Amino acid sequence: MNKILFFVDIYKWLISLIFFLTGGKVTIFFVHTNVQLNVELNYNGFMTIYKYAKDLEKRIQKTKVSGSSVGFVPTMGALHEGHLSLLRKSKKTAEITVASIFVNPTQFNNAEDFKKYPKTIEQDILLLASNGCDILFLPAEKEIYPNEESRQKHFDLGYLETILEGKFRPGHFQGVCLVVEKLLNIVQPDFLFMGQKDFQQCMVIKRLIELMQVNVQLVICPILREETGLAMSSRNLRLDPSERIHAAQLHQALASIKKNRNKQNFLSLKNKAVIDLKNNGFNVEYLELARKNDLVLLTDFNEKEDMILLIAAFLHDVRLIDNLLINH
Ligand code: AMP
Repeated sequence: MNKILFFVDIYKWLISLIFFLTGGKVTIFFVHTNVQLNVELNYNGFMTIYKYAKDLEKRIQKTKVSGSSVGFVPTMGALHEGHLSLLRKSKKTAEITVASIFVNPTQFNNAEDFKKYPKTIEQDILLLASNGCDILFLPAEKEIYPNEESRQKHFDLGYLETILEGKFRPGHFQGVCLVVEKLLNIVQPDFLFMGQKDFQQCMVIKRLIELMQVNVQLVICPILREETGLAMSSRNLRLDPSERIHAAQLHQALASIKKNRNKQNFLSLKNKAVIDLKNNGFNVEYLELARKNDLVLLTDFNEKEDMILLIAAFLHDVRLIDNLLINH
């Protein structure tokens, strides 16, 4: 293995040239290979892919010494415009943008969902590189979870873990915190970019940042939607084109509740929406109204506060979530 590392070092720049000439195909080969390549992979000279935390940490140290700010966009891949909007925001805000792709097994409470999670790594690399991402962290599972102990930590998330996603996906937010804590320790970003699409996750990460006592500014970015109103999501890849159009009913249900909030109370609007969605093939897990700043569930609209409507529903076996802000 040492021999390989030695040769890899010598051929590093040659490999970069081949990346350039092959339009990235060789990068993709190295991403898929299990050979322990301890190397920075330069993609067209713009984006560097790191597979190992210690290499990335060295690079981040250099960045910090030079005084550059670091923006971080963690993802699970199968990238779409929603992810890219976070990347663009990071590029506007910070000097160096790091993205990560890691389908985190500990946050899946359903083994089948984990197995079926879409993977489009080749396309993801091209999208990140062509959108100006500086660094991609692409670790293997063993890099994040080298042993059983590395999966064991518990985070005190309090109330947030007892409602909505926390209630319907037991253990999910513990898994999210496990991986985000490790990623934040490796990347040490000044700014962390996350999507309002996963609003409760943003609240959980706010809590994690407090628990970690680190100086990271969480930037919550708006939801990007398809023309139909469907919130963009990697899981949408599991829907065929007609199902995608159908799935936009989730957003339409929330928009209709928001629009009619001065005419009827929340409970009757919710009941009507849930019945309509059920009749149209959805299995609704929850549809709730909550206070925006702490997600305390509300029984009715209160125009003095900022509120949020949140929904989770299955269309066949694909679980979709969405939300809509109601600002006063
Ligand atoms: P994921 O790959 O699903 O873990 O998402 C990575 C990040 O992208 C999270 O912070 C998500 O909230 C964000 N994200 C996912 N979908 C969207 C969307 N439609 N618009 C904006 N951000 C999104």
